[in-house]
Amino acid sequence: MGDTFDVMIIGGGAAATSAALTLRNRGKTVGVVTNRPETSSLYKAERVTNYPGLPPMSGAEMTELFRRQLEECGARIIQGRALSVMPMGEILGVAVGSDYHMCSALIIAAGITREKLYPGEGEYLGRGVSYCATCDGMLYRGKTVAVVGSGEEARHDGDFLESIGCRVLRFEQNGRYEIRGGMKADTLIFAGEEHKVDGVFIIKDTVSVTRLVPGLQYENGAIVTDRQMATSVPGVFAAGDCTGKPYQLAKAAGEGNVAALSACDYLAKIGKT
Ligand SMILES: Cc1cc2nc3c(=O)[nH]c(=O)nc-3n(C[C@H](O)[C@H](O)[C@H](O)COP(=O)(O)OP(=O)(O)OC[C@H]3O[C@@H](n4cnc5c(N)ncnc54)[C@H](O)[C@@H]3O)c2cc1C
Repeated sequence: MGDTFDVMIIGGGAAATSAALTLRNRGKTVGVVTNRPETSSLYKAERVTNYPGLPPMSGAEMTELFRRQLEECGARIIQGRALSVMPMGEILGVAVGSDYHMCSALIIAAGITREKLYPGEGEYLGRGVSYCATCDGMLYRGKTVAVVGSGEEARHDGDFLESIGCRVLRFEQNGRYEIRGGMKADTLIFAGEEHKVDGVFIIKDTVSVTRLVPGLQYENGAIVTDRQMATSVPGVFAAGDCTGKPYQLAKAAGEGNVAALSACDYLAKIGKT
């Protein structure tokens, strides 16, 4: 089960933080779905010297400042990976792990989410390939599953699958994986070896924006928006690196602010003030 918010935001960087601050100033309830802070682009920056109002500092320090502001503004932080968004009339459902949250408007501020699918991944998604152990693990009780991924979440999901009685093959190395099968996935190929499996859990930090929301228009991997940061899906706005170049903090924060104000206008239009 999940919670209901006026606006949900996917992301936790400059764009998301800026949007959340503005929405909270406007009195909206806000849920921010965000991966671990270390996964953001900003975290990797050695030294940022072009953000107004702040002295030069490392990206990690700035990430920490953003996180603190998010916590203090009263937005609810939902630590995890948004897996999919389901528009249902004037309500949007956001799947995070096995929870399903609801909102009236959504801001995608997910940064750059270039995601290369493994051969067979898209084809067998939902037919032996899953991104969520909590959601689908029970289907594989007593069976053999592969967990592909190297982070904390992958380890945790592998442990969880073992705890419910799956035989777990763990694949933590980067490289070329391939999934094959018939009607359902039944083989994982890695480093020239074939592994017979009943399911493959692929645990990555992000889900490409091109697969997050059905019907979302994008171009060269970037979400298409108008100047109000509205996307092609009613009630869905986007901000920051995920809308395209330039990849800069000030641009991300500015777009987050515009997206938040547009989301407020949208809520008023549909009578959810
Ligand atoms: C090495 C480096 C140095 C840089 N230096 C500078 C600089 O000096 N000045 C400057 O202006 N810019 C700099 N940039 C660019 C700047 O970091 C980005 O433009 C900025 O961080 C974009 O902010 P954002 O909020 O759009 O995305 P991000 O900061 O990338 O935040 C997006 C967040 O959303 C999370 N996320 C994505 N998908 C999901 C999902 N499905 N569920 C939950 N969470 C999700 C990501 O994990 C990430 O934490 C630098 C970038 C790099 C890589």
